[in-house]
Amino acid sequence: MKKRRTVAILGAGMAGASAARVLADAGLPVQVFDKGRAVGGRMATRRSASLQFDHGAQFMRAHGSAFAARLAAWERRGIVAPWAGAGRRVGVPDMTAPVRDLLGDLSVHSATTITRIRRDDGAWYLEDAAAAVHGPFGAVAITFPAPQSAALLDGSGYALPDVGRAAFAPCWSVMVAAEGASTGDLIEPHEDPIRLIALDASKPGRPEGVRLTIHATAAWSRRHLEEPRASITGSLLEAAERHLRVSLRPIYAEAHRWRYAQVETALGVASLYDAALGLGAAGDWCLGARIEAAYDSGAALARTIVADLNGAA
Ligand SMILES: Cc1cc2nc3c(=O)[nH]c(=O)nc-3n(C[C@H](O)[C@H](O)[C@H](O)COP(=O)(O)OP(=O)(O)OC[C@H]3O[C@@H](n4cnc5c(N)ncnc54)[C@H](O)[C@@H]3O)c2cc1C
Repeated sequence: MKKRRTVAILGAGMAGASAARVLADAGLPVQVFDKGRAVGGRMATRRSASLQFDHGAQFMRAHGSAFAARLAAWERRGIVAPWAGAGRRVGVPDMTAPVRDLLGDLSVHSATTITRIRRDDGAWYLEDAAAAVHGPFGAVAITFPAPQSAALLDGSGYALPDVGRAAFAPCWSVMVAAEGASTGDLIEPHEDPIRLIALDASKPGRPEGVRLTIHATAAWSRRHLEEPRASITGSLLEAAERHLRVSLRPIYAEAHRWRYAQVETALGVASLYDAALGLGAAGDWCLGARIEAAYDSGAALARTIVADLNGAA
C-alpha cells in the first residue's frame, strides 16, 4: 500500500523545528503541534509588561559542521548574533528566533497538548487535550523531552527502544528586573546554588535595563524541586547578590521550574524510528545536553522519514 506522506511533528522546540524544515524542504507536507502558546520549547523567552527574559537556554554553540553552517547562515541574516565570547551565539531579538525561522510559514498548532496517538487502518491520528482529533498522518515524530515522550508512548500502547534510558536534570530559573546596577554579560560560578547568571540587556537586540536570569545548579534544583516559587526566588536572589556583591533592589522577580532541563544521560544515537509503524522520536536526549544535539537529532529523524515515505528505507 502506498504510504501517506503528511507527517505530524509533536513538539515545536529545536528538534521539532529542525525536523519540520528538513521534511518540508524534501517536499513532504508537515503539521507541527505544541502545547505551548509560543514555539521554541526550552529555547524560551518570557515577556511581562516591558520586560523580556530568556529563561531557558542562554546561548548556543556549534561543535559539528552542520550546526556551524546553520549558525553562520543565521548570523548573516541577523537571526543570531555573538554574545559573551567563546563562540557563543544567541537568538535575536530573543532565543526563540532560530526556531521561528526554521518553522517559517509551516502549519503550527500552538496551545495544543497531544494526549494520545493511535493507529487506524495504516494511518496515524492524534488526540489533543480538548478531545479534537488530527490526522490522518503517514508518520509521527515525537520530539518531547524523553520522559514526556515515554509517557505518550506508554499511554498509547506503543514503544520505541531505550526512550526510558535518557535522564534529565531539573533547573530552577529566576528572572529579576532590578533598580540596582549590574554589569557584565555571563557569569558561570557552577557552584551551589548558582550555575549561571546572565545579564539579559547585554545580549544583542534586547531592551535596556538591569535584567538577570539566574539558573540554579542541577543538584540544588533537585534538592529544592518541590519548594514554592516564592522561596526559590528569595534564595537565588540572595545568592546572586552575594555573588555579584551588589544590592539588586528588584522591581520584578519570578521563578520558573524546568523539570526536564538538561540531559544527563543521552542515548548516543541520532534518533529512533520504527519504519513498520512510521513512528519516531528525536530530541537533545538522543545526542547530548545542548541545542545543537536537538538540531542534529531532529534533522536525522526527518531524513529517515523522508527515505521511508519516499520508499527508499
Ligand atoms: C534552564 C535551561 C538552560 C539551558 N541552557 C542551555 C544553553 O545555554 N545552551 C544549550 O545549548 N542548551 C541549553 N539548554 C538545553 C536546550 O534548551 C535544549 O537542549 C534544547 O532546547 C532541546 O530542544 P528539544 O526540541 O529537544 O526539546 P524542547 O525544547 O523541550 O521541545 C519539546 C517541545 O515539546 C512540547 N511538548 C511537550 N509535551 C507536549 C505535549 N503533550 N503536546 C504537545 N507539545 C508538547 C514542549 O512544549 C516543547 O516545546 C538549556 C535548557 C534549560 C531548560
